[in-house]
Amino acid sequence: ATPTSIMVGTGRAAEMGVLFRKGDALQRLDEIKVIAFDKTGTLTEGRPELAASVAAPGFDTGQVLALAASAEQGSEHPIARALERAAGPGLMQATETEAIPGHGLRAVVDGKIVLVGAPRLMIREGIDLAPLAAALDSMQAKGQTPALVAIDGRIAAGFAVADRIKPGARAALDALRARGLEIALITGDTRATAQAIAAELGITHVEAEVLPEGKLEAVKHLRGRFGPVAFCGDGINDAPALAEADVGLAIGTGTDVAIESADVVLVSGELSGAVNAVTASQSVMRNIR
Ligand code: ADP
Ligand code: MG
Repeated sequence: ATPTSIMVGTGRAAEMGVLFRKGDALQRLDEIKVIAFDKTGTLTEGRPELAASVAAPGFDTGQVLALAASAEQGSEHPIARALERAAGPGLMQATETEAIPGHGLRAVVDGKIVLVGAPRLMIREGIDLAPLAAALDSMQAKGQTPALVAIDGRIAAGFAVADRIKPGARAALDALRARGLEIALITGDTRATAQAIAAELGITHVEAEVLPEGKLEAVKHLRGRFGPVAFCGDGINDAPALAEADVGLAIGTGTDVAIESADVVLVSGELSGAVNAVTASQSVMRNIR
């Protein structure tokens, strides 16, 4: 590639809201075989809302929600915000709050030990999920993320948290497929929830229940299977995968850490930016050859 053609290509891409932070990313993007996406905040809006509540026998959803939202006050996770908005004002003080990365958190509220998080948090803590098993299945089948709550060692309630798929996501993924790319999803969410979202978007390669440190490994795994990988993400926990990928694309509305780790920034946060990036790369490289 000549320096001039790369300059012209990156300039055109910038007009479409795609910032190439490194010139050679334009070349590397043309060699990509697979593009993997983070789910929350990348394929979805990243602003989940409470969609349904189910209490285990002997518990009241309103009371459990108040305890859970109180426990979540210190957390930066989008699920924490969804539970707080649903619970409203008048939360109780939480003490001994401890985040359990990739799982959820534990805190003491009103003298009770409160656990809030994914099913695997409850399994890890030896809590019996049987009273909520049916509700759990139906939440996940709808693509909703289950936020389970245990109080003093017993499962108390399940809250379904729903996050809207970005408008234009499906069209962008279809356009990337039409340009010859495999599409993959990498997420910390449960397998069943991830599969439901993937089905809506026509994604067949799904890496779910990935721990925060596991996204980088998932990128390596995809490279071994398909060849050069692009990864698109927005979060702090996406930074290692963005750096590891042959081309990292950050959602411009995402965290600074993600943007700093990426080769390409999709300024508006819309997924059409990924299509524009690939198109810019392919057209520049085609003209050169
Ligand atoms: P993701 O970016 O997919 O949400 P995380 O690694 O942050 O990945 O978390 C994995 C899963 O653990 C989440 O999908 C969620 O179910 C659960 N989780 C993590 N933190 C919290 C929290 N503060 N409250 C409720 N659930 C949580
Ligand atoms: Mg995210």
